[in-house]
Amino acid sequence: MSAVAVPTSAKEARKKRILFKCALTNTISDVLANREGWAPTLNDDWNFFGNDFELTRKDFLIKNYKKARKAKEKSGVDVTNEFSFIPSSYVLPTEYHLFVEEFRKYPAETIWIMKPVAGAQGKGIFLFRKLKHVQDWKKKDASGSEALPYVVQSYIANPYLVGGKKFDVRLYVLVTSFRPLNAWVHREGFARFSHSRYSTDSVDDAFVHLTNVAVAKTAADYDPERGLKWSLPKLFRFFRSMHGHSKVSKMMEDLAKVIIESLRSVHHIIIQDSHCFELYGYDILFDENLKPWLLEVNASPSLTASSQEDFELKYRVLNHMLDVLDIEKKLLGNETEIGGFDILIRNNKPVEKNRMPNHNNSNFIPTLNLRLGDYVEQTPMP
Ligand code: ADP
Repeated sequence: MSAVAVPTSAKEARKKRILFKCALTNTISDVLANREGWAPTLNDDWNFFGNDFELTRKDFLIKNYKKARKAKEKSGVDVTNEFSFIPSSYVLPTEYHLFVEEFRKYPAETIWIMKPVAGAQGKGIFLFRKLKHVQDWKKKDASGSEALPYVVQSYIANPYLVGGKKFDVRLYVLVTSFRPLNAWVHREGFARFSHSRYSTDSVDDAFVHLTNVAVAKTAADYDPERGLKWSLPKLFRFFRSMHGHSKVSKMMEDLAKVIIESLRSVHHIIIQDSHCFELYGYDILFDENLKPWLLEVNASPSLTASSQEDFELKYRVLNHMLDVLDIEKKLLGNETEIGGFDILIRNNKPVEKNRMPNHNNSNFIPTLNLRLGDYVEQTPMP
């Protein structure tokens, strides 16, 4: 995303042609080239999409989460129930001793996961039960160079399974401003399944425990047509058929809170200028009780499409993102739904779903404006 440019002023935006500069050829360059009134340029008087680290580096996300959790606890919130969406985590080697203290409090069969702080696509990840494995990892880097920073995290060993397989969910969250905080969530997204059926017998098999497509692709019997991805509408249809509407609504409410609280934990520290916005890819894992856990927040979520379906989804997300950003100045500013995006936070305040007209008011319980999987309209492809 950092390679795409937008105009710096409304005046420019009102000019007939909006010029964009795109260093990469991927889905975003196709989206921009197909928007009416937009044209490519090689000039430099543009503002680039900013990238931040506060949410998107694993160690920063944890640091900010812990800080926010502590502040909540101080203000009297029962954080175990009300603010608990990242598994217990420590940054190594800095917090090694704190981790060892924590490790000793857990039963011996507890599984932990080690992830390089700046890693992606499952690279460098391993699972372990015995402290010896971390000590070995530390030693491996004793070649003179310092051990690379890792995050050690308690492993969600009871993931929600579909057809015996574990999956995680990718959501698209668009922050159009950090101060005040304004954020939108797209109704589409997808679930990524692991290559092999889940079991905790072996902790060494990445095809069982990791849901990254990059990992599954390396399996000898990987079949790209076999569909290790489900769309969100499909996943939510499945959840509703298995658990009913009210359980799924409760889960959606929990998920909305995860997004809100994660953004709130950083919005005051992210350096922003007036045109700064960010499209985040949120990676969520559900446990068997449908509790959502935040695994990671990606900036510049992969926009290189892996299939036609994937391209169409990403095309819609990006096209709708440009609609929300309203560089062409077409909107009134009070919209709550634009394309597949619904507003979740406006001017720092969580947004609730509207009451239906004629709805019996006494029974109405307000819920947050998150509508994952509800997307129906199809943006015509060029
Ligand atoms: P990367 O940036 O390398 O993709 P992630 O944090 O997204 O790293 O982890 C990769 C995969 O490992 C996830 O998609 C998920 O399947 C699994 N995973 C990561 N952390 C946990 C955890 N705490 N519990 C269970 N599974 C996890």
